[in-house]
Amino acid sequence: MITAYKCKSCGQIMYPYHYRCINCGGREFESFVPSTKAKLLTYTVIEQLPWGFDERGRVLGVVEFSNKVRAMGLIDIDADTEEINIGMKLTATWEPVRDTYGEKIYGLVFRPA
Ligand SMILES: [Zn+2]
Repeated sequence: MITAYKCKSCGQIMYPYHYRCINCGGREFESFVPSTKAKLLTYTVIEQLPWGFDERGRVLGVVEFSNKVRAMGLIDIDADTEEINIGMKLTATWEPVRDTYGEKIYGLVFRPA
């Protein structure tokens, strides 16, 4: 069973465990078992991704998992051609979203279910 960690200061979700939050450097985490089913609460189309993500022009969304945990992650959808709706169902996966000094950092990626 996968256990993920949510930073108590900024809400960043991390998997696997990191000693410090990759977003804000916080050290207090709440552990939870991520669900793959999520629903979109809100989103933004951004040109410049935060947290050092490599790609540009992607969609960042806030979702709520079926276990009520809220998290932020990338929505893997082409905002120009595909429809994004608040409340749409998404499937979550954990994938490497960036490389830091050769170490792969995993993050949440959502796709339409
Ligand atoms: Zn944090």
